[in-house]
Amino acid sequence: LNRRLAEFGTTIFAEMSALAVRTGSINLGQGFPDTDGPEEVREAAVRALRDGRGNQYPPGPGVPELRLAVAEHQLKRYGLSFDPDTEVLVTAGATEAIAATLLALLEPGDEVVALEPYYDSYAACIAMAGATRVPVTLRPHDGAYRLDLDELRAAVTDRTRLLLLNTPHNPTGTVLTREELTAIAELAVERDLLVVTDEVYEHLVFDGAAHVPIATLPGMRERTVTISSAGKTFSFTGWKVGWITAPPELTSAVRSAKQFLTYVSSGPFQYAIAEALRLPETYFDGLRADLGAKRDLLSDGLEQAGFTVYRPAGTYFVTTDIRPLGETDGFAFCRALPERCGVVAIPNAVFYDHREEGAPFVRFAFCKRADVLEEAVGRLRGLR
Ligand code: PMP
Ligand code: GLN
Repeated sequence: LNRRLAEFGTTIFAEMSALAVRTGSINLGQGFPDTDGPEEVREAAVRALRDGRGNQYPPGPGVPELRLAVAEHQLKRYGLSFDPDTEVLVTAGATEAIAATLLALLEPGDEVVALEPYYDSYAACIAMAGATRVPVTLRPHDGAYRLDLDELRAAVTDRTRLLLLNTPHNPTGTVLTREELTAIAELAVERDLLVVTDEVYEHLVFDGAAHVPIATLPGMRERTVTISSAGKTFSFTGWKVGWITAPPELTSAVRSAKQFLTYVSSGPFQYAIAEALRLPETYFDGLRADLGAKRDLLSDGLEQAGFTVYRPAGTYFVTTDIRPLGETDGFAFCRALPERCGVVAIPNAVFYDHREEGAPFVRFAFCKRADVLEEAVGRLRGLR
């Protein structure tokens, strides 16, 4: 393994899911739903397979039906107009979108300012690009993780090439507000930075919170690569259908990298996701209502079990503080949890460069059936 990747090893998600299987535990670690997405979308995939759509290499930028559906989605929801031919690119999940974008846009030695804690692939992809990450730490404050805008401004140097955002934010569940995003946008314009924004949880926001794509703010459309994925919105994480929307020159740059990573992927599933994006509003409302109720079920249960809970405004993860349980090391806690009570969770420290900042925090996923969450909560109550 080369020096750039040596620090990364096996992802925590693979390690913890294997631990869950080995110990027969309830897996609230890796974020994947235990119920598949809509029947009609699965049927659409079957139809595509049967009718011979996408069984051979789809077009490099993605099938036209899906690029059009993505463009319509951005216009209908956010008033963002993108040309499906030059400003939309289909990728192998958001994971490839992140990799291709960073590999395409970064020079060795460039700095990337990213919100810490961050999704683990960011650090690895920045490293593969030979660039340097500059974390700005979100800290718990009045029950939620917040960004310190002064720290963000101070993190930008002459070597900063881009800001890497994620809202709704994994693992903290923070949804950046319009005010915060406006300040970030002003900074990007002032310092002439690109913005890469991971919005895979765009539909998973609760309590009437609104997801604001930073590309909608003044001066941003032309400097922003927006990333999303069908995995979260439609509960098909195995299909690996993701996409970016960006102005033509950025889309074309990302495509240059993408064509040598996978070239193309997920042919028949692309057709099915084109249909999924046009599901009626009741689908999206239902998803939010279902996950909102599960958020409360798990958050309430974790509070009763003695954790301090940062009830998330978005995503399907809840971050907790284990110190009230007399614990300080999330790694040790998560490694012991299956033995102690048959539940698997993720230590947030893996999402930090400043490991000590993340040490006492642990993430639980609630994209699981209600009976599974109830059983998990019952087991966790036995910890005290
Ligand atoms: N970004 C974030 C913030 C995520 O949480 C995930 C999935 N866990 C991804 C990207 C990857 O998405 P995909 O499965 O579509 O590759
Ligand atoms: N995004 C998922 C999570 O945060 C995991 C995806 C993966 O395993 N790479 O749990």
